[in-house]
Amino acid sequence: MAVVPVDIAGRPYEVRVAPGLLADAGNQCAPLLRKARVPVVTDANVEAAWGKTVDAALRRAGFEPRWKVLPAGEATKSWRYLAEVVDWLLAEEVERKDHVLALGGGVIGDLVGFAASMLKRGCRFIQLPTTLLAQVDSSVGGKTAINTAAGKNLVGAFHQPALVLADPLALETLPRREVGAGYAEVVKYGLLGDAPFFAWCEAHGPALMDGDPALREQAVARSVQAKARIVAQDEFETNGLRALLNLGHTFGHALEAETGFSNRLLHGEGVALGMVLAARYSARRGLLAEAEAERIPVHFAAVGLRAELAELGLDTDGRGLVAHMLHDKKMDAGTLPFLLLRSIGEAFLARDVALDDVAAFLDE
Ligand code: NAD
Ligand code: ZN
Repeated sequence: MAVVPVDIAGRPYEVRVAPGLLADAGNQCAPLLRKARVPVVTDANVEAAWGKTVDAALRRAGFEPRWKVLPAGEATKSWRYLAEVVDWLLAEEVERKDHVLALGGGVIGDLVGFAASMLKRGCRFIQLPTTLLAQVDSSVGGKTAINTAAGKNLVGAFHQPALVLADPLALETLPRREVGAGYAEVVKYGLLGDAPFFAWCEAHGPALMDGDPALREQAVARSVQAKARIVAQDEFETNGLRALLNLGHTFGHALEAETGFSNRLLHGEGVALGMVLAARYSARRGLLAEAEAERIPVHFAAVGLRAELAELGLDTDGRGLVAHMLHDKKMDAGTLPFLLLRSIGEAFLARDVALDDVAAFLDE
């Protein structure tokens, strides 16, 4: 088992990564749980795939799990289900020192973490992330949120979990497309700060995508280490370090917006394309050797991720995409702070990127 200590704001917790953790969830959580009754929130897909396993694991350890099963999908990160979860936790008589288990992907983690942050002014919660994206990204760092009519993730709180159990076996029931989307965020950690890890991905990515649990464990542990290191130094996004985690996300969000945040492009798929574009744009500005930039799309193609805009079948004209970027909150007088690459393994925030230049690049 890999154990990654996370220490953010003096509230240390562990991210444990190992095959079989879900089937051992009762023993893993036992030292933290004060009562027999344990609230578990999940979504319908995860319940179908892993509900019995986790329920049996908790019962074996002497607990009495109480289940709240929500609809699967991004729409569940809403006021409606936030209220539903909070009211349910109150009815379950959850106290501040109790722990709520969040079993699922980023949707469940974000929603339950937010509910925990406000229940009785903050109760504890444990993340059992079941998507690769949740294991390497959303379950670490303490950001929680819901979506509202005004946009995604605009209402939320910083609230750290008490424990994270990341089980690579959970990914065996996850659709391959979702694994690929999470994998893009894995590659991101290599690109932004760890060249040997990107080389590791080049060597092992295809076998990892095909299901090798040992490789998945290593990739998750290394990603969590990278994220934890960055977040520990910039918990509230004040010194710019945390911004590095947005590599590929400016282009990615524009593409997501262009596809109407629909199933045509998952977030991670947008990020993969976004990192390819960020690398090529860096090469165009003479920052990065072209051959280095091209390693990125070659690798994504090798693991079955779309790496070229043309594969999206979108009208991706530069003006249109830049218009989406203008909607992003970070816009500043015709230029955009933009994450570029100096080399594979070294991202930096360029503050002087002209939107006209980006639009021209996209149209080339
Ligand atoms: P998700 O939670 O919607 O899961 C994707 C799909 O996979 C869902 O249909 C889900 O039911 C299903 N699923 C989950 N685990 C499964 C399993 N083991 N087997 C079978 N099916 C399974 O999406 P996600 O990609 O995990 O997370 C996306 C969310 O995470 C977004 O709302 C995003 O804003 C958020 N996010 C948050 C942070 C953060 O720092 N808090 C970071 C990145 C993303
Ligand atoms: Zn992302």
